[in-house]
Amino acid sequence: MIYADLILPLPLPGIFTYLVPEELKEGVMPGRLVMVPFGKKKIYPAIVKSVHKKRPEGYETREILSVPDTGPLVSEVQLRFWEWMTAYYMCTPGEVMKAALPGLLRAGGQTGASSDTANPGRSRLAGYKPRTETFLCLHPSVSTGEKLNEVLEKLKKAPVQLELLTSYLQITGTAGFSPPFPEIPKSRLTAGSKSARSPLKALIDKKILTPSLHEISRLPGSGGEKKEISSLNLYQSAAIDSIREQFTEKDVVLLNGITSAGKTEIYIHLISEEIRKGRQVLYLLPEIALTAQIITRLKNIFGDKAGVYHSKFSDPERVEIWNRVAGNGENGYSLILGVRSSLFLPFREIGLIIVDEEHENTFKQFDPAPRYHARDAAVMLASMHGAKTLLGTATPSVESMYNALSGKYGLVNLTKRYLDIELPEIIIADTREARKKKKMKSLFTPQLLDAMEEALERGGQVILFQNRRGYAPFIECADCGWIPHCDHCDVSMTYHKGFKQLVCHYCGASRQPDVSCPDCGGNGLQTRGFGTEKIEDEVSIFFPGARVARLDLDAARKKRAHERIISDFEAGRTDILAGTQMIAKGLDFGRVSLVGILNADNLLFFPDFRAHERSFQLMAQVSGRAGRKGKRGRVVIQTGFPGHQVIRNLIANDFEKNFREQLAERRQFRYPPYVRLIRIILKAGRKKLLEKAASSLADSLRSRFGNRVLGPEYPFVSRVQNRYIMNILMKIEKGASLSGAKKIITGEISRLQSAPGLSSVTVAADVDPV
Ligand code: ADP
Ligand code: ZN
Ligand code: ZN
Repeated sequence: MIYADLILPLPLPGIFTYLVPEELKEGVMPGRLVMVPFGKKKIYPAIVKSVHKKRPEGYETREILSVPDTGPLVSEVQLRFWEWMTAYYMCTPGEVMKAALPGLLRAGGQTGASSDTANPGRSRLAGYKPRTETFLCLHPSVSTGEKLNEVLEKLKKAPVQLELLTSYLQITGTAGFSPPFPEIPKSRLTAGSKSARSPLKALIDKKILTPSLHEISRLPGSGGEKKEISSLNLYQSAAIDSIREQFTEKDVVLLNGITSAGKTEIYIHLISEEIRKGRQVLYLLPEIALTAQIITRLKNIFGDKAGVYHSKFSDPERVEIWNRVAGNGENGYSLILGVRSSLFLPFREIGLIIVDEEHENTFKQFDPAPRYHARDAAVMLASMHGAKTLLGTATPSVESMYNALSGKYGLVNLTKRYLDIELPEIIIADTREARKKKKMKSLFTPQLLDAMEEALERGGQVILFQNRRGYAPFIECADCGWIPHCDHCDVSMTYHKGFKQLVCHYCGASRQPDVSCPDCGGNGLQTRGFGTEKIEDEVSIFFPGARVARLDLDAARKKRAHERIISDFEAGRTDILAGTQMIAKGLDFGRVSLVGILNADNLLFFPDFRAHERSFQLMAQVSGRAGRKGKRGRVVIQTGFPGHQVIRNLIANDFEKNFREQLAERRQFRYPPYVRLIRIILKAGRKKLLEKAASSLADSLRSRFGNRVLGPEYPFVSRVQNRYIMNILMKIEKGASLSGAKKIITGEISRLQSAPGLSSVTVAADVDPV
């Protein structure tokens, strides 16, 4: 008897053993997709993890039903990567499978096509139809000049057909007179005109033109002009030499290079070396908005060898990308530029992973599981491929800098900007003082307004940063203090003027704003605070002639909207861009002379142990957008606390000092990198039940881990979508067995969940929370 251990896309722990029927023996091997019965009636796709002869004890095995003809779908390295992720991030194999495989691949299904062992990972699936297009060429029977003239003569009676044939000849040129006849897409001939349909059919019926069907890509091609790789300047060359040298000893190197130092150019050189060696490169970015700008740069150099991957692709598009990453042929990708989920693509052989903007917390997946950090997972994936990882940033995370200084990672500093462009001048605008002197004009200090006026007058562009979307974070009754809250969550609702709605940023619920105060009946309702939408509005009042755009989650929701907003700004079609952190991340704009940070205090006083690290990173990053090409830029930071340590470090451009201060605080209060954090998140519909479950779990953990257990505590937002939330925080010191601790925690969690009356409490673990 032969058995197979399978991964099913379910949030259940463990793997499942099934019997392999004799007739399916050949097809069942690790990495293959199979269909199995599960539960009463359901049939599920599953991935074969291993095949063996050990009969499982204690239960009747069921049989695998079929093996869809997809060829091997998941490679051995991918299976190992999934296994690591499951263990490290304390989730189930099925949760990783769901995150890793595009829905269509998971859906599987029989197609009857023969398996293609030459192309592992190439999948032909029931739900996946390759996109095809009809091409036309001259029929062989009219191939000679003589025959063609005859046809042309005859067609004089059918002028539309004649016109079509002549355009075919024109488009293809004289080459059409001798075989092979050039094929042209049907769409080029008919230009989409419906009236061409029947004359075209007549030409085909008369065997004058002959059609053929070609498989074409759904993905945009490179299109752009081919560019040579730029040669590096002295500093860049020194940096790349040092990277190469440190890679001989270290698997990970941190490239700490200030904004506009030309890090991307260095990556391009390293990528091209890997491609020449026949290996693949994965280039990870924290944000979709960034991929659009950089992919153009990369496609100009690497052409169609470079592909993009992110969540806005449709399922069929994702399957095509999947195939092109696995494939080695003409269409194969050598370089993938993508967001965190591209770690799951079926790479043949990675030589290098670049994690750009490595400090960004959007690399961490929060919900659903697997709650993985793409930077850390990248390091693991690279080592499984025997590859190297390059972490790049202008503002390293405390963790990576610590790893570099302690010798675990290599470190390369790049302190000169390309072409020696000066760092921007930083102006601190004191909002408390301005308010006292009644000098604030709406959201703006006089310093910021003056600087904006000057920048616009000189034809420069302006970026305004605020880490809140919407119009106003909340509405308040000036008479009685009433604030509208979400019915389902413990937060105030954000006012969105464009939608004319109050929106909950936690659950998405929305409703009409009240006309009068429901509490006191008065007319005292006023907006408080401000988001990007209000900035956009107010700017138009102060600068009626300026063209203003906004880049935030709301504006970028439509499929290609973010690309358009960015390209409009790049091309100078907009003057002022107001946005959230989306604009802070590595965008390269040529004409930005001023960056305004409207409320630094939001960042500085955010209740999180990483607040100071993050606010320095964010402000340094946004500032880096100013004055990239040409003249020195300016940054105006509005704050009520001009003497704050982080503000002082920013003015001095002293990353090092900020890092040291953070490290000292982390050591004193026992936070990463000195300990590892595991956050346990409990949720339930009833408050009492949740509190009971949380304290019972905390107590049992405390009996094993003592004062390494903190909480349970209600988080800042203690109810979302009608479910109450409590957190328990575990601090595991470096050197202690993390995997041992995780085993105990997992055991305690499942004990809690099987306790009577507690099945409605959900418990999740978040390893290395950010
Ligand atoms: P970073 O990624 O460090 O912020 P970029 O790689 O985006 O910097 O470089 C900033 C600008 O300088 C870009 O417009 C880039 O094209 C240009 N640049 C950098 N290095 C070179 C080089 N060696 N040759 C030509 N242009 C360069
Ligand atoms: Zn009121
Ligand atoms: Zn809500």
